[in-house]
Formats: sequence, C-alpha cells, structure tokens
Amino acid sequence: MDLKQFITIVPDWPKEGIIFKDITTLMDHGEAYHYATDQIVEYAKEKKIDLVVGPEARGFIIGCPVAYALGLGFAPVRKEGKLPRETIKAVYGKEYGKDALTIHKDAIKPGQRVLITDDLLATGGTIQATIELVEKLGGVVAGIAFLIELSYLNGRENLEGYDILSLMTF
Ligand code: 5GP
Repeated sequence: MDLKQFITIVPDWPKEGIIFKDITTLMDHGEAYHYATDQIVEYAKEKKIDLVVGPEARGFIIGCPVAYALGLGFAPVRKEGKLPRETIKAVYGKEYGKDALTIHKDAIKPGQRVLITDDLLATGGTIQATIELVEKLGGVVAGIAFLIELSYLNGRENLEGYDILSLMTF
C-alpha cells in the first residue's frame, strides 16, 4: 500500500515556511492505519521487544496499537509536569529555547528491550531525549519506528548507532 497518498501536506503551518506533514488523514483511514501499524508490529517482532515507549502526543498514536497487537506494555513519555509520580527528566533543544521530557522512574525494568515510536523524525531532538530517558532507566533501545522521516533534516545522523524504521521518506 502506498501510504504517502494518505499524508496531507499543509504549507505554512504552524508558521510560514514550514511544510507540515499531517498524519491525521492516514489515521482517519482504517485500512491505511492498520497497514502502517502492521509494518511496525513486524519490525517489533524482529527486534524482540519487551515494551513500547513513545513521546506525547503522536508517539502514543503510533505506539499504543503496536503494544496492543503484541500484548506488550506502553510507557508514555510526557512534557514536564504531566506525569503524577516520580519521574526522571531529559532536556532537549527546540527551535526556541529548551523543553523537557519525562518518564516515570519505574516505567522500564533494567535490560528490557524497548521500541521507541513517534509519527515523524525531523531533527531527531525529541527522540534523542526519549533515548536518554530509556537508557537512564537501564532499558535497551532495540529499535525506533516512525511513520515519516524528513531526510533533508538529517535526523538519522543524530541517531547514529540505533536501528531505525521509517515507513515513508520525504
Ligand atoms: P524533531 O524533534 O525530530 O526535530 O521533531 C519531531 C517531532 O516534531 C515529532 O514528535 C513530531 O510529532 C513533530 N513534528 C515536526 N514536524 C512535523 C510535521 O511536519 N508533521 C508532524 N505530524 N509532526 C511533526
């Protein structure tokens, strides 16, 4: 199935000069969402993962159905102040200033093989912070799966040494 036909290109959003890739039109389409999820499930099986981890909010949309299909757990990575119990934090650079991502301290058991999921790889900053959280808790990043990779932003170079699956490249 050609998944690119389900992605809507939105010029100048959220601001001028950005060409946003809208994945909601893929999620809207049951068959396309199912097909995309199945590709990631197969990848996750190959990598023998124990747990899925994804950053809010679109990482949940990709990762939760994968975890469900495999009968595995899903651990959310969220912006600071959103998780109710003890967390650890990773700070990462955004276009304007810094942001922080957190995960519950007991979300991962040392040695667990983790699949990280998100909708899109741009510069890789979000996933670098997510990797930092997983590894701080003793998890092993066995694979990273995206729907979309923006190859012109070279995010893959910032994730050197990690195994990456992207279903579409722009
Ligand atoms: P990065 O940290 O790799 O620079 O940016 C990736 C993050 O920004 C992802 O969590 C993703 O949800 C969001 N993002 C950036 N650009 C786009 C886009 O064009 N479309 C979508 N759907 N998400 C984007």
